[in-house]
Amino acid sequence: MFQRVAIVGLGLIGGSIGLAVAEHLPGISTKGYDASPAVRRRAAERGLTGTVCETAEEAVAGADLVILCVPVGAMGEVARQIAAALPPGALVSDVGSSKRSITRSLTEALPGQPIIPAHPVAGTEHSGPDAGFATLFHHRWCILTPPADADQALVKQLAAFWRALGTRVEVMDAEHHDLVLAVTSHIPHLIAYTIVGTASDLEDVTRGEVIKYSAGGFRDFTRIAASDPTMWRDVFLNNRDAVLEMLERFLADLEGMREAIKAGDGDAMFDLFARTRAIRRGIIELGQDDARPDFGRADHEG
Ligand code: NAP
Repeated sequence: MFQRVAIVGLGLIGGSIGLAVAEHLPGISTKGYDASPAVRRRAAERGLTGTVCETAEEAVAGADLVILCVPVGAMGEVARQIAAALPPGALVSDVGSSKRSITRSLTEALPGQPIIPAHPVAGTEHSGPDAGFATLFHHRWCILTPPADADQALVKQLAAFWRALGTRVEVMDAEHHDLVLAVTSHIPHLIAYTIVGTASDLEDVTRGEVIKYSAGGFRDFTRIAASDPTMWRDVFLNNRDAVLEMLERFLADLEGMREAIKAGDGDAMFDLFARTRAIRRGIIELGQDDARPDFGRADHEG
């Protein structure tokens, strides 16, 4: 197992990793760094990592595992910043939500350094140093996307690290990851951002009504649409090809639903809604969501 882990970026994911290491792997020491002085201060108060450093170089010095937890668009810049301070042989990983572009920028910035990109498929709509918690990764998946020539012993070591934090681990290539996540995460976020934007722009429905009657379904989109704007801008800029490919598919299916509604084709609608209901059951059976009515929300929130 790794002994000294450096975490660069101490928001939701970086902070949760630090807290989870302290809880599940107390023998590992952690050092952290964030570009924002206010975040560094709060991270130190919350004890997100054992030490909070004033520079990224200081944080990675002596580390045997470095995890970059910054927005996707900042990965290359951070890699260049730490390049000279990295111990030779230290494994560099990340948690970014798209993998092809990150693999490219890390490989370019850190020639000769072992690199195994990763993506814990776990998160909330909150961000920043107060958002992290030690159990974020429990019962979630972490996808590793090692380059073809990666050292298999390091892949195993990184997989063991993530398993110790509570995730299940899957290994796939970066291209496949980006396609899978485009459909399971990026397109749903795009739809949520769009529908919430559409509702707030409607002139004949007031904002008050949108909020008042939100329990009709809209509310669940607003949770997703409250996600961090920087993170999601970077995801769409960096997973452009896979998102556009899946968006074409989605738009064709949406067009199909428009036709069904126009034609009064109840059977087509019923068939689709029955299929999608089965998918929801599958997600609950796999323990990826809560079967209680209203997603297990407390009654007073209803
Ligand atoms: P977050 O809460 O906003 O944390 C990111 C932190 O990185 C912020 O404190 C940010 O500071 C800091 N930062 C930005 N640029 C930096 C730089 N150049 N050097 C050092 N620190 C820098 O975001 P997050 O949700 O943890 O997301 C981090 C990564 O995890 C992203 O790549 C995202 O794709 C991935 N991810 C997110 C989720 C999710 O659900 N949120 C799930 C899985 C993976 P400022 O705020 O001052 O810019």
